[in-house]
Amino acid sequence: MKSWTCIEKCGACCKFDLKNRENIYKILSKKDLELIDEMTDREGWCKYLDKKNKKCTVYNKRPHFCRVNSFSKKFNEYYKNGDEFLIKCCKQHISEIYGKKSFQMNKFKKETMQ
Ligand code: SF4
Ligand code: SF4
Repeated sequence: MKSWTCIEKCGACCKFDLKNRENIYKILSKKDLELIDEMTDREGWCKYLDKKNKKCTVYNKRPHFCRVNSFSKKFNEYYKNGDEFLIKCCKQHISEIYGKKSFQMNKFKKETMQ
């Protein structure tokens, strides 16, 4: 069975583009959306991402919507498809940010055993 994992040197989901994440709109509160606005830099990336190393600089204090293990439980699709849902989301983000043949996509596929 495929199991989801977050890979190092990725950060693809740390570029906020809620236009492509309509299902998230339904779950986030007004306060969450305001926080995302505050966290977003001019290019759409989270300002807490160390872009060079693709690493979260506030990992232990990151907001609830950055905590995949707990946040995923808010999605019905997670209950239906489990880790398959998370893998699909990560592949979508990685593909949009880095491309389908990127280092990050290859690493993600390898680490999630696809
Ligand atoms: S897109 Fe997935 S693998 Fe990449 S940083 Fe986000 S959760 Fe981790
Ligand atoms: S707080 Fe950290 S995990 Fe959340 S979007 Fe920003 S860099 Fe990514």
